[in-house]
Amino acid sequence: AKLDGRGTFRFFEPEMDVRMQTRRRLELDMRQALARREFVLHYQPQLNLANQSLTGCEALLRWKHPERGTIPPAEFIPLAEEVGLIVPIGEWVVRQACRDAALWPSSVTVAVNVSPAQFKSGRLVEMIVSALAASGLPASRLELEITEGVLLQNNEHTLETLHRLRTLGVRVSMDDFGTGYSSLSYLRSFPFDKIKIDRSFVKDLATAPDGDAIIRAIAGLGRSLGMTTVAEGVETEEQMRRIRAEGCTDVQGYLISRPVPLEELMRLLPQTPQD
Ligand code: C2E
Ligand code: CA
Ligand code: CA
Ligand code: CA
Repeated sequence: AKLDGRGTFRFFEPEMDVRMQTRRRLELDMRQALARREFVLHYQPQLNLANQSLTGCEALLRWKHPERGTIPPAEFIPLAEEVGLIVPIGEWVVRQACRDAALWPSSVTVAVNVSPAQFKSGRLVEMIVSALAASGLPASRLELEITEGVLLQNNEHTLETLHRLRTLGVRVSMDDFGTGYSSLSYLRSFPFDKIKIDRSFVKDLATAPDGDAIIRAIAGLGRSLGMTTVAEGVETEEQMRRIRAEGCTDVQGYLISRPVPLEELMRLLPQTPQD
């Protein structure tokens, strides 16, 4: 620590300083990234277990940084949320995903992850209406994935926003189900269309003594509430077999496909012409 010019005591740790600079640099780069068209969406398909059909794709954001290469979302989304950049970035994601999905067969939906700050922006509904209109995508083919974080804060406004979106025909999924403290109470507060069972439960399937029982319970819960249940992070045939046996309706994971660029996804989609 040292005294600065104004006579106040400041901590000075070189290591901390480097981290702060890296963060600041990343933030500055992120502010330019939209205009420089450095963001891309990859898509990961979801497979329905009853008829083996591809029912939807989740849009996952990638940042092609000019010097650092592809940066995964875990490395920049938390910062984007902190500094408010997630609002314009999230808008780009919704608009691009709608444009892309308008090219897919009409049976395939597109799912977009939405952060709490986008709900707080106060113009999420208008933005989505505008994105749907601009792309020509029907509202029923857009799905929003929200985590508990969205419902935790500012509950009333968020629920009202969700209901307005639902009235438009947009679908709403509960993401990372089971990881928070009150996943169950959120199922009570809003009629989600889909429950996405967090990857950690799928990972536990073969090893944890009650792994199968937990998946079975969530699948049963979804069934009685009329919600689709998607198991996330399915990597092996064994996991797939168990998930099917426990009654989940859909799967998503590397076993089906990694998230892929649009051109690659187009080759995986059913060949039905657009209608
Ligand atoms: P998420 O919404 O839970 O997305 C699923 C993550 O699991 C993705 O990571 C996906 O690539 C990964 N994954 C899928 N299948 C498998 C598998 O079989 N095994 C393993 N090990 N992983 C699998 P990704 O793309 O790195 O995204 C991480 C998180 O970043 C997402 O978690 C989501 O919370 C956030 N994110 C991504 N795109 C966006 C976005 O456009 N907006 C917002 N707000 N958040 C986003
Ligand atoms: Ca998600
Ligand atoms: Ca998830
Ligand atoms: Ca997650």
